[in-house]
This record gives sequence, C-alpha cells and structure tokens, in this order.
Amino acid sequence: MNVILLGPPGAGKGTQAEKLVETYGLVQLSTGEMLRDEVRLGSEMGKRAKEIMDAGKLLPDDLVISMISGRIDQADGNGIILDGFPRTKAQAEALDKMLEERNLKLEHVIQLDVAEDAVVERISGRYSCAECGSGYHDSLIKPEVEGICDNCGSKKFSRRSDDNQDTVRSRLAAYREQTAPILPYYAADGRLIVVDGMENVEKVFESVRAVIDGV
Ligand code: AMP
Repeated sequence: MNVILLGPPGAGKGTQAEKLVETYGLVQLSTGEMLRDEVRLGSEMGKRAKEIMDAGKLLPDDLVISMISGRIDQADGNGIILDGFPRTKAQAEALDKMLEERNLKLEHVIQLDVAEDAVVERISGRYSCAECGSGYHDSLIKPEVEGICDNCGSKKFSRRSDDNQDTVRSRLAAYREQTAPILPYYAADGRLIVVDGMENVEKVFESVRAVIDGV
C-alpha cells in the first residue's frame, strides 16, 4: 500500500506518517527529513538546501525527484508513506511515472485540511527531543516534567531553524502557490480524499485510518 499525505506545513503530516508506520508497517519517506540529514552531514547538497529551506522556499524539482527515486527503490516494508513529497505538479507527475515504472500503485492520497492561522501557531512553538525526536509545543504539548522528554528522559531539545514566524509565512506562500495546485490533479481522477486536520492527533488518525481501511 502506498500513501501520500498532503497539506501545508504544520498540518500534521509527519505526525500522522509516524502513526501509519507503526500501524501498517509502511516506510516513511519525508523529503524534509532527508534534506535536514544532508544539512546535518554538511554535504554540498545540505549547504545548498539549508539556504533555500531557511528562506521557506522549495528546492528544485530535479534534485528532490532524484533523491526520492533512490529511496523508493530502497524501501522495504508494506509500502511507502510520502510526507512532504510531491510539492509541485512536476513532482506529482514524476511520482506517477516512477510508480508506474516499478509496477507500484498509489492507493491513497490524503489531504489534511487545516486553517492557516492554526498552522502558524502550531509551527512557531514546536520543538522536539534531540535524542528520540518526540515532538512538543511551547503551549500545546508540553512534557509532563518541564525540560525532560516524556519518552526517553533526555534533557536536550532542538528546534528547526525554519520553524519561525517569518519563514512560516514564506513556507505557507510556497504551499499556496506551488503545492495547492496539485490538489486538483489528484481530485480529477478521484484519488484525493480530504480529512479534517484541525482535530487532535488521535481523532485525525481515526479519520486517516477510516480512509485506509475503507470503513
Ligand atoms: P518539511 O519538513 O516537509 O516541512 O520540509 C522542509 C523544507 O524542505 C521545505 O520548506 C522545503 O524548503 C524543503 N523541501 C522538502 N520537501 C520538498 C519537496 N518535495 N520539494 C521541494 N522542497 C522540499
């Protein structure tokens, strides 16, 4: 089973993708995470990517398409869950071609529908445990004991350098101008399913599961 999660930054794509990994044994392919790995490694690609990511803009299609293509080949599991890809019409078309060449089918394209104001608040306050990656938020999801990760007990946390109000506005503009136009591409042949992403994580996951399980 191969699934795409679509929606603006802060819609909860990463969080829902992690839950899909746990529940259905899918492999999560997040282009944002792959790019952040390159930045951490200090590779040439990472250096180029950081500047663009910190400006809240999108990386060139050819670069992202070749990066994801390699990962699709390596993925073993019950299928893939794409989070943050495709983000342009060219990427969506390239993905269809890549899947077709590999005899793979795209079973579900799920759009997490959220209000822009809410995502600015969600993103501006979010941070994560530097050890295990568990996600928190300054006002919405605090650790039970301040300064200590609920999951692994670490006291180290980190914030994404692009999770600040200015960059978030640019990221939302990139979503509106370059990514939202792919929604009709998937709607046209009946592949797009819209889920209300404004509910809490568990409720949204119930809706996502209902789409996948066809109930
Ligand atoms: P994300 O973690 O999905 O929010 O992505 C973080 C940043 O990585 C984005 O703001 C873009 O700069 C870049 N990025 C991630 N995925 C893509 C993509 N599919 N196409 C172009 N740029 C991307």
